Amino acid sequence: MAYKTVNPYTNEVVKEYPEATEQELQGAIATSYQLFKDMKKQPIADRAKILHAVAKNIRTHADELAKAATVDMGKLLRESKGEVELCAIIADWFADHAEDLLKPDKIDTIATGEAEVQKHATGVIMMVEPWNFPYYQIMRVFAPNFMVGNTMILKHASNTPTSAKMFADVVAEAGAPKGALTNLFLSYDQVTEAVSDPRIQGVALTGSERGGRSVAEAAGKNLKKNTMELGGMDAFIVLKDANLDDVNDIAWRARLYNAGQVCTSSKRFIVMDNLYDDFVAKLKENFASVKPGDPMDDDTTLAPMNSEKAKNKLQKQVDEAVAAGATVEYGNEPIDLPGQFFKPTILTNITKDNPAYSTEMFGPVAHVYKVHSEEEAIELANDSMFGLGGIVFGGDADHAAEVASQVETGMVFVNNFMSSLPELPFGGVKNSGYGREMSSIGQMAFVNEQLIVKADKPNLANPAGGLVALDKNGK
Ligand code: NAP
Repeated sequence: MAYKTVNPYTNEVVKEYPEATEQELQGAIATSYQLFKDMKKQPIADRAKILHAVAKNIRTHADELAKAATVDMGKLLRESKGEVELCAIIADWFADHAEDLLKPDKIDTIATGEAEVQKHATGVIMMVEPWNFPYYQIMRVFAPNFMVGNTMILKHASNTPTSAKMFADVVAEAGAPKGALTNLFLSYDQVTEAVSDPRIQGVALTGSERGGRSVAEAAGKNLKKNTMELGGMDAFIVLKDANLDDVNDIAWRARLYNAGQVCTSSKRFIVMDNLYDDFVAKLKENFASVKPGDPMDDDTTLAPMNSEKAKNKLQKQVDEAVAAGATVEYGNEPIDLPGQFFKPTILTNITKDNPAYSTEMFGPVAHVYKVHSEEEAIELANDSMFGLGGIVFGGDADHAAEVASQVETGMVFVNNFMSSLPELPFGGVKNSGYGREMSSIGQMAFVNEQLIVKADKPNLANPAGGLVALDKNGK
């Protein structure tokens, strides 16, 4: 597998990186494991200082980091800058809150003595991350795990190696000890090998359903706890009393942000019949007004996709959708620029037997459905193997929130763009994966919640309800 930065705007091969050797992998596991053991004696407050320093160093290098991400995978420079700042915000948040989140929980119990659940590190975590947010995806795992004292080995996407290396360098430069986060250009086989090593005690993957299944299989086989943050086909439901100006302002952004390559992009717009025609007309207008161009330029509003392979895959999916009867309301034409641009496209009349009905399109293609009742909207939203996020727009926010809670996904935003912040749990259900990253829930992903019951003397007269000691006759 070649780790390569190919600029998707110019198609230039910028830099290639050699794959990690067996010695590098084994050396990294040994160093990380030793650090995990050493950090057991370290106060959390010491790591909080380092994580704040990481946030500071990210801000110091913000411009270089942002440019590197844009060259690696093509996103608009201002979006890269936003991602870099979000990483610093996440680092600061965990540095400020983890000590509190990791305090022991006292338990009221009838057992003899005092009971509490302590929160301990478990070992080395194998992280497998995607290219679409080359820094933020790493930080979601790094910040909480560093705070608890887990150490990490990173296998990043093969098309964002420069971002991966820069992130690890910035973390090290800020004072994180060697082994806290080691970026390695690993093959799939090396990932499987690492997952089977007893010193690795957790596996965190963000990526496709295909990649997730494969790495989760290796984790399951080796009984390693894992979190899977996978794909989505998020619904954007427009209720009959929604404010259409607000809807129109958000809808195109929810699809085209990051060139449509977001797990929580709104991929299916489900619109009540009274607003449908106006919605489609305005979405076309907004899609038509984006300006493709150099992602480094401030006035560009449509970035190239991350790679030629991704663009070709999307084109094939759209061709199949059209062949199966979908209507192209807008787009699906080439853009006359050398980069990997895909013209924003709107598809309607997608029937249940169309492959587009059930396949994630990871790029700037919107599917729009007309519905005649709220029940139909909810049923359509839930008729998916994915369950990641979603958006509901309605004039009555409380009622829209009731609709939101009937959508079978991990996250729904009402009357707003979806956002990701450190205090909000991130993750899905169904084939979108399991587990949560960020927030108090994400903090516990790879923590040993260890019960300690402390008594001064034994007492065999505990009432039943727990494990009851046998008497001398074995009764
Ligand atoms: P992908 O192919 O699964 O790649 C993601 C990562 O997994 C990359 O580092 C990839 O390495 C690695 N990988 C894939 N198969 C592997 C295997 N068998 N063994 C070891 N590593 C493996 O995902 P993608 O298509 O590039 O990313 C887009 C997908 O990610 C979309 O489905 C999107 O919805 C999802 N996503 C989900 C979230 C979330 O939080 N739920 C966030 C962002 C994206 P290589 O690059 O070397 O192949």
